[in-house]
Amino acid sequence: MHERTQDAMTYVRNFGRPDLFITFTCNPQWKEIKDELMARQKNHDRHDLIGRVFHLKLKYLTNLINKGKIFGTARCFMYTVEWQKRGLPHVHILLWLQEKIHVHKIDDLISAELPNPESDPMLHGVIKTQMIHGPCGSINPLSPCMKEGKCTKRYPRNFLKDTQGMMDIRCTVEGNLKMVAM
Ligand SMILES: [Zn+2]
Repeated sequence: MHERTQDAMTYVRNFGRPDLFITFTCNPQWKEIKDELMARQKNHDRHDLIGRVFHLKLKYLTNLINKGKIFGTARCFMYTVEWQKRGLPHVHILLWLQEKIHVHKIDDLISAELPNPESDPMLHGVIKTQMIHGPCGSINPLSPCMKEGKCTKRYPRNFLKDTQGMMDIRCTVEGNLKMVAM
């Protein structure tokens, strides 16, 4: 692990800061997982299955990034797979691109808007079920995010007109690298 951490640091020395920090989380509702469960089995009974399906999907994703060049030509990438307390794997990917992303291009890569339910019903469904926080606050005071009557994730938040992602991305990247170094 120490050796790998040192290798990771070499990436930063040679290529500078990574351009994208991508998180990809296992979803127990994936068809490939649900189809293989036996009668009365729940997804938490089958870590073997979850691990395999996640690994295959991760391979597919890294292929899309590196061979499919969905973010442009990649110089290099690294990732670390982690397991959450309730058993689902997720991956953090750091990606260095041949062409740096300029601020005015960030909206081409990141969108914090709800997709149109008519033109893209699948993506709209994914965002609605996986990416929206809550309900919490006075509507649902028993939500796990609530502490002393307040949401610990600071929701609900005001809508913003413009993307403010770059700062967050940089912070997360630094946070992650520190975590690797520990
Ligand atoms: Zn909350």
